Amino acid sequence: MVEVKNLVKRYNGKTAIDGVSFNISEGEIVGLLGPNGAGKSTTMNIITGYIIATQGFVRINGFDILKNPLKAKAQIGYLPEQPPLYLDMTVGGYLNFIYDLKKVKLKKSEHISEICEKTEITDVYDRPIKKLSKGYKQRVGIAQALIGYPPLIILDEPTVGLDPKQLVSVRNLIKSLAGEHTVIFSSHILHEIQEVCDRIIVINDGKVAADNNKNDIIESASANRSIVVHIEGDKDKVLDVLRGIENVIDVENTADIEKNVSEYVMSYESSHDIRKAVFKELAANNFPLVKLELSDVSLEETFLKLTEEKSTPQEASQETAGDWAESESHETKEDSAEAQVQEAGQDESQNGERDDLEGEDTQNGNDKEQE
Ligand code: ADP
Ligand code: MG
Repeated sequence: MVEVKNLVKRYNGKTAIDGVSFNISEGEIVGLLGPNGAGKSTTMNIITGYIIATQGFVRINGFDILKNPLKAKAQIGYLPEQPPLYLDMTVGGYLNFIYDLKKVKLKKSEHISEICEKTEITDVYDRPIKKLSKGYKQRVGIAQALIGYPPLIILDEPTVGLDPKQLVSVRNLIKSLAGEHTVIFSSHILHEIQEVCDRIIVINDGKVAADNNKNDIIESASANRSIVVHIEGDKDKVLDVLRGIENVIDVENTADIEKNVSEYVMSYESSHDIRKAVFKELAANNFPLVKLELSDVSLEETFLKLTEEKSTPQEASQETAGDWAESESHETKEDSAEAQVQEAGQDESQNGERDDLEGEDTQNGNDKEQE
């Protein structure tokens, strides 16, 4: 359904993403997980044709997003990081407007009210969008992505800024899309991705750091365990003894605790408990074991490990890039509207609608500033 091949995006020589590839099959709910600045939005913006990659290609149901943009975009409902809402419109007015823009062929009022039910916004149908809470606005954003029931739904951090109650309802909404839609959604919150998705693609520093079924990630996280031990004695000799123990994968001297006592972390296959062997071997070699602690590797730690190991240069480059961040977010808002027209459009000659939209866009920009 979605083919993403070797995507590279550079901004003035600065690499935002670097060789991102993955395939997504129909009906999958995939979470793009990664810290801020990892490249999630860049990846999604390229998939939806909203920005153009420096290298690589994207195909949606076989349609290349650049060579066949209208057909490819017709398959996608997109909620960008900055939802393209026209704040002076009512919810109903806005959704009708999007319906027309997308040239949907379903029964209009039935379709729109069905989507309102689904996204739980029926009770605010006649209210201006600017009067809505963040949670409602976000659901209106999801509703516009759903109009026309495109097979692929892409949601960029749809739960950012929501309160706990709104979080639950938006997550449930995303889960409810399973089966009928293929969904890609991004988040920097592990447990949210874990709750909603079956498959997790970890993006870090512009690269795919992991791409796995959720259970595989948990399994690989628990395949190796580690213990932390404090042992008295000469470090090199202690290390030799510890490394000689059966089923031990790796031993690291991690700290000096007190005079002649050091800390070691020993990893081993979780199917073989090494604690008794450690105790026996140390006793036989006359190295007193002062402390032994079992440390389980959680999914959280695995994620941190995947993302932390490589995140230092990324953070550094982000700092130097502080200047454009502001202007970029402005650009994003304006382009979102345009992206939406194209996504919806299928027919770029609809000048009347474009004019409408540009008017709304200005309005939208003003409203945004008031927020
Ligand atoms: P995420 O969505 O994961 O937080 P982004 O895709 O927004 O990450 O950003 C990825 C990297 O690309 C970051 O280092 C970011 O600073 C950089 N970047 C994003 N947009 C621009 C832009 N318009 N100009 C320059 N650099 C950008
Ligand atoms: Mg982002």
